[in-house]
Amino acid sequence: MARAEGGAILIKNGFVFDPWNGIDGERMDIAIMDGRIVEDVPEREALVIDASGMTVMPGGVDIHAHIAGSEVNAGRLLRPEDHFKDVEPRTPATRSGVGYSVPSTWTTGYRYARMGWTYVSNPSMPPLEARHTHEELDDTPIIDKATYPLLGDCWFVLEFLAAGMVEECAAYVAWMLWATKGYAIKIVNPGGLECWGFGHNVRSIDDVVPYFNITPREILRGLARVNWLLDLPHTIHVHTNRLGQPGNWVTTVRTMDCVRGLPGPNGRSIHVTHVQFSAFGGDDWASMCSMAAPIARYVNMHEHVTIDMGAVVPGDTTTMTADGPFQYGLHELSGNKWVNHDVETETSSGIVPYRYRRKSVVNAVQWAIGLELALLVEDPWRVFLTTDHPNGAPFIAYPRVIEWLVSAKAREVTMRRMRRRALKRMVLPSIDRELTLHEIAVITRAGPAKALGLPGKGHLGVGADADVAIYALDPERTDLSRDHVAVRKAFERAAYTIKSGRIVVKDGRVVASPEGRTYWVYVEMPDWAEEVVRSIASAWSERYTVSFDNYPVPEDYLAIPYKLVRKARLS
Ligand SMILES: [Zn+2]
Repeated sequence: MARAEGGAILIKNGFVFDPWNGIDGERMDIAIMDGRIVEDVPEREALVIDASGMTVMPGGVDIHAHIAGSEVNAGRLLRPEDHFKDVEPRTPATRSGVGYSVPSTWTTGYRYARMGWTYVSNPSMPPLEARHTHEELDDTPIIDKATYPLLGDCWFVLEFLAAGMVEECAAYVAWMLWATKGYAIKIVNPGGLECWGFGHNVRSIDDVVPYFNITPREILRGLARVNWLLDLPHTIHVHTNRLGQPGNWVTTVRTMDCVRGLPGPNGRSIHVTHVQFSAFGGDDWASMCSMAAPIARYVNMHEHVTIDMGAVVPGDTTTMTADGPFQYGLHELSGNKWVNHDVETETSSGIVPYRYRRKSVVNAVQWAIGLELALLVEDPWRVFLTTDHPNGAPFIAYPRVIEWLVSAKAREVTMRRMRRRALKRMVLPSIDRELTLHEIAVITRAGPAKALGLPGKGHLGVGADADVAIYALDPERTDLSRDHVAVRKAFERAAYTIKSGRIVVKDGRVVASPEGRTYWVYVEMPDWAEEVVRSIASAWSERYTVSFDNYPVPEDYLAIPYKLVRKARLS
């Protein structure tokens, strides 16, 4: 059995779910050589894994989880109680670690790998704190990753867009992606974070941001155009205005609609993230209800949108977001401790511990909304599984979410323990759809990989990265709906996780801990772009405590950088 890394592996006789390549549970072999999927390998030269009676999928792809950076680290500092209740003991292959909702970096890598996930996007990086973020990503083993700089409230972005200088804004954004080694444009509560610097927030997508004379709608449309001009692999990645407020579903639909007709990768122009938090009906907390249905209807009718769930799972967690005003509201509402932070002229952020309770009407409705979104959006290629880790639940809850998605019975069991008043405010009791393993493979692998434009991820075709998850789940002998607990257990502990052609997990135990790659996007720009960037250098020293020259993170600062090169649509 012992084989050197990078060698040949043959996974025999598994039930393969590879939706990208149209493979739906066929019994077949998967061959691996030198870290890639290949047509075939000679059996006698390969390490053979007998996957008979097991489910084989590409490695999981997480489009949105807060796993690294100053905000995550502040969450760790804020919550010693989160650490001592959850300890990861040292093993011959792994370091020790701690943390339930905000685990330490090494533990984060191990726990993803244990579930069969091999890629994670860290979605919320203040550009100024890119260095710290990459340090933590480098310390997060096994998984590949990327990180999105927060650009929706940067002063330079707001000024360029308010002046109608979209191409100049594109030059600045291309530079920021290079300077921060970032992957996509992240927008959180556009305009609202800037207002928060003055203790305010925006109330709609057409509210004017004070001092900048620009609206959230103009920021969204402007950055969607920038995104297209730079030919970025992913769309703008948007956390809506009014997140977490009753009645916010209207703002969410308007946000999706405001970029309709704009071009983008694969015909998409926006990804709206953790939509659960943005799908509230009602006028206040007393009347708050699920509005997942109209949002799903909008998504079903409009191809330009992708979303992720932001599912809530009852239990204790830590909420953290760049949405400073939202976190202040949650702190007021819950009375829990709170961190508030303002990152110079770039963004805000906040952290508040939170416990979702089954018996709370609002929390029960939140739980339902996340699942409703995945069940009501008809096309699984446009809705992805997330918990907005750790906001809706720690990522280790994914198997639990999968259990509810494949089994109406599992949902019923949970709903029986909720208040009747809560059940009246959701549509979940009337939904009988149950996702298939094929659909689970789409929403956890193929779909997010495609939306991210990640080369070699999310599928098992020849040439793909050899990132494979094997689960002890026999789809021919398991009634997913009835045996939902078996489904959850299988996803909690992969029988095997293979990362870049190397076995990293066996029988749910981490057996190797190699370093993963960090993807970032370099955009080739015309010559004039450099002058635009130089023109902001003079204003820089008035705005930043860090000098212009010290700001960029050099590529060799990253342990294993993976540079995606794009060419701007600019002359
Ligand atoms: Zn988030």
